[in-house]
Amino acid sequence: MSPTPHIAVLGSANMDLVAYVAKAPQRGETVTGREFRTVPGGKGANQAVAAARAGATVSMIGAVGNDAHGARLRSALEHSGIETDLLRTVETPTGTAHIVVDDEGGNAIVVIPGANGTVTALAPGDEGLIASADALLLQLEVPVDGVLAAAQAARRHGVRTILTPAPAQPLPPELLAATDLLLPNEHEAAALTGITDDPRAAARALLSQVPEVVITLGSRGSLYASRDTEPVVVPARQVTAVDTTGAGDTFAGTLAVALAEGNSVPDALGWASSAAALSVQRPGASASMPYRKEIDKEAT
Ligand code: ADP
Repeated sequence: MSPTPHIAVLGSANMDLVAYVAKAPQRGETVTGREFRTVPGGKGANQAVAAARAGATVSMIGAVGNDAHGARLRSALEHSGIETDLLRTVETPTGTAHIVVDDEGGNAIVVIPGANGTVTALAPGDEGLIASADALLLQLEVPVDGVLAAAQAARRHGVRTILTPAPAQPLPPELLAATDLLLPNEHEAAALTGITDDPRAAARALLSQVPEVVITLGSRGSLYASRDTEPVVVPARQVTAVDTTGAGDTFAGTLAVALAEGNSVPDALGWASSAAALSVQRPGASASMPYRKEIDKEAT
């Protein structure tokens, strides 16, 4: 294990295009909004930022378009200290999320995967990078074929894979077979198992396909289950949340770092909970993610 853990992430990078309006338009209606913001996002990029701020060396595998959004996403990742050598620039436009936020805090979102949709297989260099990592973080905002190829490469080299199954969708058995730790939130766990009201039972059901499961439960914390131990709930910190966007990605990125540093799963979950609790007290997704010093302070 390297002293500074190396985390590889294969996943999405999107530009979030956010319009703030009093009330979202109905079909056929035009409304004048108050403000527009462009914010780097995508679950892959967000988990990469969380892991980098938590102290890891992070490499991002994915794709952006040959356009202004792509250039900005690349430079935002590099600014966070993330290696982007294997972040491809392709002719398909950068992925975008078109988000309308109304005055009641409700939102409506259209995601155009764009360049993310081209990540259907590993490219030269990807497997070597994955092999050199201490852990591989995966989500489902790039095609499942690309995710599967990465997970199987990690398995060949004995690298721990952590899969956030979001957005929820049926998973091929080969992907679960190459996953070490499945990390759904409770809605994703319900979608995968059909068990809607009992996270322990959902975790038990998932253990028939993966050796370890962590289900995040929002303000109720997280539930850890493995084939060898009884399920344990790690409570969330009691804090006043102002914006929970990106809480799950903060949790995933910091959990990967703590595990790669050799901590036990319960200890790593406690540390990731501290990081996620810090993130929900601040606005934004990646903007709200805490740095190592803050997490260590919160966790003591
Ligand atoms: P997602 O963002 O993927 O929906 P969750 O809502 O389950 O995921 O949140 C992930 C983790 O973030 C939780 O397990 C918890 O540790 C932390 N968290 C989320 N909401 C809160 C909250 N209101 N207060 C404290 N911690 C929270």
